[in-house]
Amino acid sequence: MYHLFITSSNRYCYARTMGGASHTFDTCAECGRKNIRFLPISEQAFLWIEGGKRFPDFLSFGDVGQYLFVSSAVISVFEANAVSGYHIQKAFPVYRESHGEMQKVDDIQYYSLNVTGQVDFDLKAMHLKKKHSCKSCGNFDWSIQRLSIVDAKLDLNTWDQSDLCRVSSLPGSLVCSEKTADLIHQNKLSGVYIQDEKDMFRIR
Ligand SMILES: [Zn+2]
Repeated sequence: MYHLFITSSNRYCYARTMGGASHTFDTCAECGRKNIRFLPISEQAFLWIEGGKRFPDFLSFGDVGQYLFVSSAVISVFEANAVSGYHIQKAFPVYRESHGEMQKVDDIQYYSLNVTGQVDFDLKAMHLKKKHSCKSCGNFDWSIQRLSIVDAKLDLNTWDQSDLCRVSSLPGSLVCSEKTADLIHQNKLSGVYIQDEKDMFRIR
């Protein structure tokens, strides 16, 4: 499969926040870890845009989170080609600061996608283990601290066949099928790097 790495360049804008609190932290009573908890998206939520002038198809999000924001072009391509593994959560209006005031950017909106497809790592092939797993919150530590040296490998036995997937052991990661990667290339959808699954932990 392929890793989708969403990042902004100078040319493109990115979203700073969703215009309100998007997450909070709960401290686990069992292990003491601080675990992130995502809050429901409010009806009034909007995207606060900064950076370059152009609008990418995959919008980079500066705040912490597992959010995926895409343009209507992405929705059209995905729907026309029956890309599976997501549902559309909400359409977001876009605001940008101009002369000290928040102004709505007309004619542009982004859609938040909730990615529902699942696949998981082949930890054995990666020589990687989970340790100190908490029975209460499920959080764990990796046996290797510098994951950037690890070649990732997905276990296709754990794949639910969806075109868009989260990696169960690393929910912030977004991966896709070859079909989806080809569609992104062919339609020149911007704002995303497609890299081999093995390079998932490398920062570009
Ligand atoms: Zn815990």
